[in-house]
Amino acid sequence: MRRAVVFSLILAVGAISVAAFQAQQPKAALPDLVKVKDNLYVIEGSTPGGTAFTGGNVGVFVTEKGVVVVDTKLAGYGPTILAKIKAVTDKPVTMIVNTHTHGDHTGSNEGFPASVEIVAHENTKANMAKMDAFKGDKAQYLPDRTYKDKMSLLGGKDQIDLYYFGAGHTNGDTFIVFPALRVLHAGDMFPWKDAPFLDRSNGGSGVEYPRTLSKLLAGVKDFDTVIPGHHPVTTRQDLEEYQRFTADLLAGVEAAVKAGRSADEAVASINLTAKYKGYKAERVKAAAQAIFDELKK
Ligand SMILES: [Zn+2]
Repeated sequence: MRRAVVFSLILAVGAISVAAFQAQQPKAALPDLVKVKDNLYVIEGSTPGGTAFTGGNVGVFVTEKGVVVVDTKLAGYGPTILAKIKAVTDKPVTMIVNTHTHGDHTGSNEGFPASVEIVAHENTKANMAKMDAFKGDKAQYLPDRTYKDKMSLLGGKDQIDLYYFGAGHTNGDTFIVFPALRVLHAGDMFPWKDAPFLDRSNGGSGVEYPRTLSKLLAGVKDFDTVIPGHHPVTTRQDLEEYQRFTADLLAGVEAAVKAGRSADEAVASINLTAKYKGYKAERVKAAAQAIFDELKK
């Protein structure tokens, strides 16, 4: 009996370390570039937890002067991303924009030539500087250029507008608009059709999240197509719906707190899948708990 327990423990630990090892070994094949519009492409990612998870969606914008890459997936995908880009253009990658700090969006910054200019929000640079992946020699893959509220890059039909509207997924999420193409790369401010991950250790806020999306929607009209952080390419209408979803999530937790309910009761009281067709509820519990904690602090 006892031996059987020990043996199954060894098996369990073995399984965990194999899983951890596999998680560190990128080997899932990347899909080919999919054209979003004209000279803008995306290399799609799957949702975290999936067997073929490679990181977030990568935007590839082929400009007059070179290729601008938005986000770089998990570590180890640099050469593969570059090879995929080669299939559509011979131009070199000249710039990376990181939407936010997380390793599934910044992991392969190191896989690009050191000459590539890296751009991000100033808070994201500060968050990245705290990561082991950007310490020592790797500090050269931190953003070279940052901004606070808004910054435009390049110009003419190649113009790229970067906007920061406040905390949400983290405290440094950039919305990237390609105005000539009317496309927004939203990063993890619109990750998937489920509750967002609220990274409070990097300044994320479920209280600010719906407000931040409202500011974007009220202030930026020149996009109708949206590249989410992980979900396939979609529409402005879907992002507007996501804003309402995050507002309802916040309102649900606020109501539970006002009624004096516990965190568990607050979490249990939230049911948004009936109202939001096609939405999952796999991440609602964690998000509701994070909002509860934020409201109670
Ligand atoms: Zn993220």
